[in-house]
Amino acid sequence: MSFYDLKNDDPFLGRCLIAKDDIPEAQIVIEERPIVHGLARESDLACFGCYSPLDEDDPDACEKCGLPMCSNVDLCQSNAVHQAECDILQHAGRAISLTLLDDLAILHDVVLVIRLLSLRQDSCSSDWQAVAGMESHLEQRSQVPHIQERVGKIKNILLNDLALQGTAPEEIVHLCGVLDVNSFELPSPHGTVQALFKVTSFMEHNCVPNMHKSFLNGFSIILRAAKFIPKGSHLSLTYTDSFWTTMDRRNFLLETKHFECECTRCADPSELGTHLSTLKCPKCPVGNFMPEDPLDSTSDWSCDACLSVLPSNYAQNLLQQVNETLSLLESADPDPEQCEKFLLIHSRVLHPNHAIMVDVSHTLVHLLGHWPGYLMADLTERQMQMKEDLARNLLRIAEKLLPGTVRLACSTLKMDQTLINGYAISGISRLRSTTLYQLYLVLQQRAYNWMKSGNRNHRDIVGAFAVAKTSLLQCIAMLEYESEGSPEFSLLATANDDLLSLEEFLAQAQIN
Ligand SMILES: [Zn+2]
Ligand SMILES: [Zn+2]
Ligand SMILES: [Zn+2]
Ligand SMILES: [Zn+2]
Repeated sequence: MSFYDLKNDDPFLGRCLIAKDDIPEAQIVIEERPIVHGLARESDLACFGCYSPLDEDDPDACEKCGLPMCSNVDLCQSNAVHQAECDILQHAGRAISLTLLDDLAILHDVVLVIRLLSLRQDSCSSDWQAVAGMESHLEQRSQVPHIQERVGKIKNILLNDLALQGTAPEEIVHLCGVLDVNSFELPSPHGTVQALFKVTSFMEHNCVPNMHKSFLNGFSIILRAAKFIPKGSHLSLTYTDSFWTTMDRRNFLLETKHFECECTRCADPSELGTHLSTLKCPKCPVGNFMPEDPLDSTSDWSCDACLSVLPSNYAQNLLQQVNETLSLLESADPDPEQCEKFLLIHSRVLHPNHAIMVDVSHTLVHLLGHWPGYLMADLTERQMQMKEDLARNLLRIAEKLLPGTVRLACSTLKMDQTLINGYAISGISRLRSTTLYQLYLVLQQRAYNWMKSGNRNHRDIVGAFAVAKTSLLQCIAMLEYESEGSPEFSLLATANDDLLSLEEFLAQAQIN
């Protein structure tokens, strides 16, 4: 049964999906194969048949068209996905393939457009009609010089170098727009893959989405309700990083998707109380400094305590400086001490939940326990407490931005929900699952330390292991939703092994 209605004519949003009935949490709402897929513009060089890495010393090539192939060349050159561009390149003379390899980004675009054009054949006409109806923001894109330049190159290659017949220049411009506006990047251990989906392309953006997406090998997309969705609601995904500031999200959406987000989160100066964009007030010790109208990038900023007001360039200049320091930190492969120092210094100007602080906190949580000299058993109680506090704060922020409740994560494990009470988790996200894993590690280490020290009673120790195990179970439940082939999916195997070892240890030590 279908859980949604497709709407083509919403006066504000254009195309959108509306819940036909109440949708229970974790319900799979959409599962579909891509209309087309191929290497993304930013992807490294990879096999045009299967996207695997090439043999670095002696790369193979398709015998017919000359495009690079992995060592499985016999299979990959006859792979159905490669046939559209193979025919055309072959026809134009394979020397062209070598020239095209000089600009990989453009070549990847050209291949994707050719694959889309191949849908015109009758057997796939419903896919072709779907592509024809997709949003391509022609007008807005025609005013952006770098987009115009790129589309011009693609047109030139297709129409002149490859002498494509029966294709109008406007058609190519539309397809380039469709790919940029509607396609998704898929997690892949090798080349970065981009894919276009028919129904999913109707999904609108929201900075606090009610749907969660994941991918299966073979590039199918699965969209689940991230929380209970009442009948009549619009279904939404997020097209930006959820942990960016309002300014960064809105700029990104305007540049890449050509619309101005005005969702509840964007319109709220405090970002629903998360304070991801908030600065410290420069005039008083306690105030939060926020834009008066976050939907206007030129709006004044003001303090919620002393009511001081400064023009928007105060915030812009400050953030530019901090971002420069952040780039320096990141390029230096920082150790835990450097990250801690960064957080301390910038806590004077940024709210502790500011996106930049969240970013560095996330790094620090992962470094503590894994950096030479800072392995789990080396951590002092102060460092363990810091790891735990930072992890819990990240989880609290994630909870507000990626809604949903405990049930979503519990349903796959058939976990008892009462087990989780008091450790509320909600929604599923990569940041959340990897942070939960780090939280489990530090809680378990504390339990081990207590056991070794001999100065804690049996009840405390049992309690400490139980809390650690709960975090691990939550982490596993959340990772079950991750896409095959993603780094988080491999973390699932590690986490499951950890659970077995922990249970074995607890049984042996008679801790339960
Ligand atoms: Zn291959
Ligand atoms: Zn070929
Ligand atoms: Zn928004
Ligand atoms: Zn103030």
